[in-house]
Amino acid sequence: MLKKMHRNPPVTPGVWFNSLSVVDKTPKNECVGDREFIMVVYMGKPMWALFRCPCGCGQVISLSLQSIHHPNWKINKSSTGRPTLYPSVSQNKGCRSHFWVEDGRVHWCGKKYHGHQNDLRMGISMKSAAHSHLSPVDLEHHLENSSKIVYKLGY
Ligand SMILES: [Zn+2]
Repeated sequence: MLKKMHRNPPVTPGVWFNSLSVVDKTPKNECVGDREFIMVVYMGKPMWALFRCPCGCGQVISLSLQSIHHPNWKINKSSTGRPTLYPSVSQNKGCRSHFWVEDGRVHWCGKKYHGHQNDLRMGISMKSAAHSHLSPVDLEHHLENSSKIVYKLGY
């Protein structure tokens, strides 16, 4: 868990989520560890991803992995067993973090700034939250432990 701290962060960020925990029941928010990345899989189907916001604000982020939900996310397990999540996660409220996770490493996309950036890696442009047509209601309705953060798909 504990890694050497770099005074000057390298280009590749350090590993934040060291493993991917697969469970079949959605855990309560208080059961989500600081650097734990939880994937809820029920009957062989990916349902939810839960983890605490890596900015340190402590909010539990709950993302739908179900294609019937919009937005939804995908998780891949890397050869190291660490999670890769896409697309990026953007919080409309609270800390307003915007990041993506690749091989357990958190890549920040201009923290606290949402609008009109180009996410070059994804090859997609970011719309401002104000222009988002996506509703978080669906997500919150389905997740009893959902935090009150609103997410939008970063595209
Ligand atoms: Zn945060």
